[in-house]
Amino acid sequence: MNSDGRTAAPFTRVLVAGGAGFIGSHLVDRLLALGADVVVVDNLQTGRARNLAHLTANRRMTFVEHDVTWELPKKLTAKPFSHIVNAACAASPPAYQADPEHTMLTNVLGTRNLLRVAEQHGARLLLTSTSEVYGDPEVHPQREDYRGWVSCTGPRACYDEGKRAAETLAFDFDRLGRADVRVVRIFNTYGPRMDPDDGRVVSNVICQALSNEPITVYGDGSQTRSFCYVDDLVDGILKLLAYDGPQPGPVNLGNPLELTVCDLIERVVALTGTASPIVTRPLPQDDPRRRRPDIELARSLLGWDPQVSLQQGLEATTRYFAQELREAPAFGFP
Ligand code: NAD
Ligand code: UDP
Repeated sequence: MNSDGRTAAPFTRVLVAGGAGFIGSHLVDRLLALGADVVVVDNLQTGRARNLAHLTANRRMTFVEHDVTWELPKKLTAKPFSHIVNAACAASPPAYQADPEHTMLTNVLGTRNLLRVAEQHGARLLLTSTSEVYGDPEVHPQREDYRGWVSCTGPRACYDEGKRAAETLAFDFDRLGRADVRVVRIFNTYGPRMDPDDGRVVSNVICQALSNEPITVYGDGSQTRSFCYVDDLVDGILKLLAYDGPQPGPVNLGNPLELTVCDLIERVVALTGTASPIVTRPLPQDDPRRRRPDIELARSLLGWDPQVSLQQGLEATTRYFAQELREAPAFGFP
């Protein structure tokens, strides 16, 4: 028992909602390596069975195809979970905008359904929120106490406002003592198991470069992002999931190295030696101008700092996409 009365529990039986997705599947691997039994719940909207294919023979991993906007099947919740991670939500703008109503409900109803299971089991729940709660930020870099500048009517709102509402639910459950909650705000993350076809800038640019297709820059490419390698991110998520102090978050997790989209493309062109031309496309509505995490809280609370350089991360990601393209070369680029 901790000083504030919260119970410290080892990872024993962990539910990972969204565990067939990019980040969720890496988390599943790490939890299994730590000795946990892992139940993955995923509707395969953007997740892929191949992300978990290497685990099909692992008896400590159970996969259940289910949409979290619906209550979890009773047979799943009959045995208690020690921890729940909610990583269920499409993260790529074209994917989450394809069915905005479902995106909003995934965040609101899905988080509510999972919080209720956490309440029932006395489990700790970690919500994967996002830097999108800062919208198109007027404060730079973004600290957790910045309240954000988010459009509630634009095409990104289903995701941004959905995540803000999910955070509200999580903190209300925590404040009322109904569930032990942790919230991370994830900044742009990349690495192996990204869906080559998901439309995010890292997947698009590397796949375009490897296929000698035109590389698409939206707008003039001067907008910035800060890209975190997935292994670093998962380290941070696990540290917060295991953190037994009084601070539920939100905690920013991201790599503070800030790049313009043009900088990123230059790096990928140099790495791949591609002959691809660069073409411009219109900047999507409400596309944030800049984004960089302030990670002082993660440093002081969790002793966390990203370890993988952009060069190392891009090399590993490029090797992964090269393999994906060899196996399934007919990708279309949204
Ligand atoms: P992803 O799209 O690869 O994974 C999301 C997973 O959730 C998929 O497997 C999908 O099938 C599943 N899912 C979606 N809606 C669902 C529903 N209603 N019921 C059950 N499963 C559902 O995305 P990701 O990059 O792995 O993102 C994981 C989490 O991290 C999400 O919550 C996302 O908002 C958050 N996040 C990611 C990033 C990033 O850069 N990747 C940045 C900020 C936040
Ligand atoms: N972007 C781009 N070309 C692409 C895909 C995206 O220039 O092929 C831009 C996009 O407009 C945004 C940035 O890259 O400014 C990051 O986009 P992504 O979808 O990866 O993440 P998010 O916008 O959610 O941060």
